[in-house]
Amino acid sequence: MARQIRILVTGAGGFIGHNLVNRLKSEGHWVRGVDVKAPEYEPSRADEFEILDLRRYDSCLQAARGQIDQVYNLAADMGGIGYITSSHAEIAKNNILINAHMLEAARLNSATRFLFSSSACVYAGYKQQDPEITPLREEDAYPADPEPGYGWEKLFSEELCRYYRRDHRFETRIVRFHNVYGPLGTYEGGKEKAPAAISRKVALARDGDEIEVWGDGKQTRSFMYIDDCLEGLVRLMASGYSEPLNLGTSTMITVDGLVDLVTGIAGKRLIKRHDLTKPQGVRGRNSDNSRLFEVLGWEPSIPLEVGLEITYRWIENELKRSNNLPIKYSSQAAD
Ligand code: NAD
Repeated sequence: MARQIRILVTGAGGFIGHNLVNRLKSEGHWVRGVDVKAPEYEPSRADEFEILDLRRYDSCLQAARGQIDQVYNLAADMGGIGYITSSHAEIAKNNILINAHMLEAARLNSATRFLFSSSACVYAGYKQQDPEITPLREEDAYPADPEPGYGWEKLFSEELCRYYRRDHRFETRIVRFHNVYGPLGTYEGGKEKAPAAISRKVALARDGDEIEVWGDGKQTRSFMYIDDCLEGLVRLMASGYSEPLNLGTSTMITVDGLVDLVTGIAGKRLIKRHDLTKPQGVRGRNSDNSRLFEVLGWEPSIPLEVGLEITYRWIENELKRSNNLPIKYSSQAAD
């Protein structure tokens, strides 16, 4: 009988990591999850879950010990645009330590594959100045002009993966996520992303209320539901492709459009109040999925309306459970 695959998921207390552990367990794999915190909304299904600070090299060696086959490296100090623009030094330092130490620890422990979670924040700012942006192809990360701090770190860690592959013949995979959303993700506290922040604001508003929208609402993005993200991750890990690969949908929408979709799902009529003092990131961003489809023979397909309905209902229920509805929302959120 074939030996069960042993998988390490770092960041297993976070949104994508926790959902990935659920998926890998449903497929019958042995999974170790590691994070500085336990998952927020339900217990982990990992066979082992360890609280470790992966900025430390000794913690990374501990995380990767004992015949691990595959490493999904999803641990990162990150959040929405408000969070990642708040402290470039701290975020870049934390993430470079996690990624450099995890790569080396996984290699020394003879893991066979290492997947690094990069981001669309690596793409050059000068190519994202128009809301009607041409979808970004993988080569659009160069000449480099990524998001300060968080994006530069991701771009350098992509390079580090390449060096490990070339110099050590260590098998690396590099995924560039474009805005992932879904249940079991943070929706309050400052680290939440736009779909979760907007869902929370809408759920907390009364019919006819005003809600705050960061920026002028005309900035565009594409959004990928978590199930598509997990499918892409598992396919990429299994593939022979080691260059950076987009993982997102290619359906672009304005932030105002996203707010309208969520208000429609909630069945409320709300007034948007745009706050131009808040960070809003690049003007436009979309994923060109040509290479993704070429490499994986697949691309994300869950419509935004479908994924958002599930996500909104989950956040609304969480707020009900914590007795937070229907108090009027008044503080700020990452966007
Ligand atoms: P998340 O914040 O929910 O999860 C990241 C996890 O890493 C958190 O649980 C956090 O506690 C953990 N972590 C942070 N510092 C750590 C440390 N020192 N040691 C151990 N664990 C630590 O974020 P996510 O959305 O699940 O993102 C997962 C990965 O995908 C990250 O690398 C992120 O940069 C990348 N990414 C996500 C998106 C998105 O839309 N969610 C977009 C682009 C890239």
